[in-house]
Amino acid sequence: MDLMEKIVALCKRRGFIYPGSEIYGGLQGFWDYGPMGVALRNNLKHEWWKTMVSQRDDVVGLGPAIIMNPQVWEASGHTVAFTDPLVECKKCHHRFRDDQLVDGKCPDCGGEVTEGKTFNLLTEVYLGSTEPKQLAYLRGEITQGVFVNFKNVVDSNRVEIPFGIAQLGKAFRNEITPGNFTFRSREFEQMELEFFITPDEAEATKWFGYWKKIRKDWYESLGMNPAKLRFREHAPDERAHYAKAAEDIEYQAPFGWKEMEGVHHRGDWDLSRHHLTYQDYTPWVIETSGGVDRALLFFLIDAYFEDDKRIVLKLHPKLAPVKVAVFPLVANKPELVDKAREIYKHLKLDLDIPTAWDDRGNIGKRYYAQDEIGTPWCVTVDYQSLEDQTVTVRDRDTAVQERVAIADLDSFFLGRLK
Ligand code: ATP
Repeated sequence: MDLMEKIVALCKRRGFIYPGSEIYGGLQGFWDYGPMGVALRNNLKHEWWKTMVSQRDDVVGLGPAIIMNPQVWEASGHTVAFTDPLVECKKCHHRFRDDQLVDGKCPDCGGEVTEGKTFNLLTEVYLGSTEPKQLAYLRGEITQGVFVNFKNVVDSNRVEIPFGIAQLGKAFRNEITPGNFTFRSREFEQMELEFFITPDEAEATKWFGYWKKIRKDWYESLGMNPAKLRFREHAPDERAHYAKAAEDIEYQAPFGWKEMEGVHHRGDWDLSRHHLTYQDYTPWVIETSGGVDRALLFFLIDAYFEDDKRIVLKLHPKLAPVKVAVFPLVANKPELVDKAREIYKHLKLDLDIPTAWDDRGNIGKRYYAQDEIGTPWCVTVDYQSLEDQTVTVRDRDTAVQERVAIADLDSFFLGRLK
């Protein structure tokens, strides 16, 4: 099995990610997150919101609707320019994105492909119960929700340029070739900042560099291997219709260096298309646009470790779905079970630390299961615990156990999760 197959299998086995509507044969480009996956995704989004919004004085948050008045997409240029070139193999009839074919031949059978046809990525929806129904779109990028609310935010908050508006939410694209697990999906979540600045080249250069660094540092601060991260500048013919400059943060995935997040200089494209100004000028925008699902996939790939004994997800404790697992050494000794239950409840309810309970099988199997979901610490209550009020705490990455006083567990975990 190659690494991607192993990760897909682990995600299914341990409840991270399942194929969407699987019992009906699935639906290409859609994925469902299981109990572990949704916890990991929430943690990732929480960390993003914390560093990009809550901990800053110059960024406010926003939660716009997924479906907007279709005029938004006319104004933003998406109904015309949000396209990919589609080609079809004349022999096997598989479809591809023309810009992703290496030598113009079908990658599946080597056949000749048709001329490229442009294909709009917006997903249409029809609103209302009587005919004619109103055509609208599921948003193809979350960005426009910020621009259409620019005036609302400026009028109802004490913000002054330079400042940013950040948001997290679902976007939908009729991708021609969804694939590489969740990497290219038709429904996915984005995490974006639109940062408004005065229209000036020196300002734009300064803020573009500033946000590039902040965003790359963020991935590294959550444990991503810096050697697998790089920036790649877009060539002028590759840039989106709105971009004056664009650089991607790429991750070295098993299927090549791939875009994880884009940093874009959108100039005054959007605000001027929506006829919006600030004081007597149109601000420029520096954007950071990341994919939650792509980042999550790359965090999983980066954290995957195996040797002859075990498989471990070495996720950063802040991202790990479960932080601590508590076990009684054996399940049939009420003194051990009661003490372990007390610790479990205290960590989970009083300290609000995501904590798991396991008393099945033997300790080795329980460690194995926790390693596979990336739980950083396992606490075991054993016979010595009853005598000296200590427990063992096992570290996921080293598998080393240390004895810690029960009274010291709060500071032990809270200190490490800060
Ligand atoms: P690509 O070139 O891979 O199609 P893009 O340049 O169109 O991506 P952007 O429009 O810049 O992507 O979107 C910003 C971010 O949203 C991307 O960096 C990526 O993380 C995420 N994203 C975009 N399309 C998808 C998708 N189909 N599935 C999952 N995530 C996506």
